[in-house]
Amino acid sequence: METRKVYLDNSATTSVAEEVLNAMLPYFREHMGNPNSLHAWGREARRAVDEARESVAALVGASPNEIVFTGGGSVSDNLAIKGAVWSAPEGKRHIITSAVEHHAVLDTFKWLGKRGCSVTILPVDEYGMVSPESLASAIRDDTLLVSVMYANNEVGTINPVEELGGICRERGVLFHTDAVQATGHIPIDVHKLPVDMLTMSSHKMYGPKGVGALYIRKGIKLTPLIHGGGQEFGLYSGTENVPCVVGMGTGARVALRLHEAGEAGRVSELRDQLLDGITSSIPDSFVTGHRTQRLPYHASVCVRRIEGEGILLRMDFAGIGVSSGSACTSGSLEPSHVLLAMGLDHATAHGSVRLTLGIDTTREDIGYVLEKFPPIVETLRKMSPYK
Ligand SMILES: *Cc1c(COP(=O)(O)O)cnc(C)c1O
Repeated sequence: METRKVYLDNSATTSVAEEVLNAMLPYFREHMGNPNSLHAWGREARRAVDEARESVAALVGASPNEIVFTGGGSVSDNLAIKGAVWSAPEGKRHIITSAVEHHAVLDTFKWLGKRGCSVTILPVDEYGMVSPESLASAIRDDTLLVSVMYANNEVGTINPVEELGGICRERGVLFHTDAVQATGHIPIDVHKLPVDMLTMSSHKMYGPKGVGALYIRKGIKLTPLIHGGGQEFGLYSGTENVPCVVGMGTGARVALRLHEAGEAGRVSELRDQLLDGITSSIPDSFVTGHRTQRLPYHASVCVRRIEGEGILLRMDFAGIGVSSGSACTSGSLEPSHVLLAMGLDHATAHGSVRLTLGIDTTREDIGYVLEKFPPIVETLRKMSPYK
């Protein structure tokens, strides 16, 4: 009987690190104060929130007063984009994004497109990358904002953010990047990057779900989505989620320490072993996304003549957690918008599998996956209507 459990879906969410959980626990009972209260309980909660803000700021090279805590990556994306549009000067109604964004960005753009904004969606190349040239030629006199993700969640490709941001800065256009998959995993320094706003999410970097942050460069004005008590510099009202904010701050410190200890090198070696192992042992399989400009923990492949969901279910049965690139919403199989934008046809896009490594992933785990994956494909292909 198989007892091994191998979680390879860290792009969907990571486990809360033990150190993070331990840091959070006192803020549920012992230090349960509201940071907006003036007594000792409140002051302790405020101190903890301030400390977390410093830790998150340090992770990306920002000042603490440029970090706003929110309810997660999706909230930060919405705040950055809608907040900028709702504060836009007269005549700036054009906004630009890419075809491979997370839905928190893409659907926000589509929604704004129905409400008076003019929207341009940039194409990507075969690796899912946005080219600086295509961005440069899309910017117009009435362009307000560009939002292009730092690294893609489905195929792991890292965009040339420095060049993209540089073009925006030169043309006087705001630049936002959804860095949820990148923060804590590859070095980011907003001092050196021409980025105006940057989205982070705690649960993609060893912290709890339901909390995120938005870096907002000093001087940029946004309209809040939520009005109320004026917390978070007036940009995200509501009593701070102190335990989770503390968790995000601790997660940021854990990420920084892991990075300094060479975690990226360790996982990228395992990732390459996994990608090489899959493509050499499974006929008609190939890597999706860029081979080198890629998140260290991210592996994604397409297996021709197979449904990714079938692989996912059989891998699950073998104790392995992966994701199929296509979003399967109650029976209707829509292939991934990312893979289609990269030029894959529908049938091929259906065969996508994403395997994302984490701090707990070992060499033995990779060996186990490489043992299970090929026979699963072989079985599915025998049953397949294609051939
Ligand atoms: C997970 C993810 C989000 C959403 O973050 P939540 O905290 O789950 O709302 C946004 N963008 C990307 C690229 C993601 O991977």
